[in-house]
Amino acid sequence: MKPMPRKRKPEKPSGIDIFQVLTQTEKETKQRKREELLAPLNVKQYFTEGTITINKATCKGVECKLCIKACPTNALFWKAGEVGITEELCIYCGACVLNCIVDDCITVSRKRETGETERFSKPKDFTALQHAIDAQKRFKRVSEAFPTVKEYLKRRKRKKPRRESAKH
Ligand code: SF4
Ligand code: SF4
Repeated sequence: MKPMPRKRKPEKPSGIDIFQVLTQTEKETKQRKREELLAPLNVKQYFTEGTITINKATCKGVECKLCIKACPTNALFWKAGEVGITEELCIYCGACVLNCIVDDCITVSRKRETGETERFSKPKDFTALQHAIDAQKRFKRVSEAFPTVKEYLKRRKRKKPRRESAKH
């Protein structure tokens, strides 16, 4: 008598989240496209994640166009009576916000490598943010050079020029 064929166990779900895979692929494709577009512009440092929006209702449009002139990557353009955005070219630098004559017209939000998110829509907010970032950088540089007060004093002492020995 032939042995009865064993019943196959139902296969376990693979644990792959298709939605997550698709989102990841889309993100990578977008990133690649950005790199290709930005390469000829020789942009070395830029924010990889961010968003930019323009409030068409408050924008002064044809009378202004200052954001278009200020954009270093030509991500902004004039088309059909309004300012358009090529998102892939935007490096979220904030130059357009800094030059915009209307508060809260352009809103930029960007993510740092640390995961920190910055959002600004007024020139004064952008300037304050830049000052804070510059101050942080300065503090970091000084802390690296002189980790403690003791170290600072020690280095200073070492650098002090020696006095000439007294003449006999
Ligand atoms: S944030 Fe910078 S790169 Fe993006 S549109 Fe504004 S000026 Fe151009
Ligand atoms: S700078 Fe501001 S107001 Fe002027 S065109 Fe650009 S978005 Fe509009």
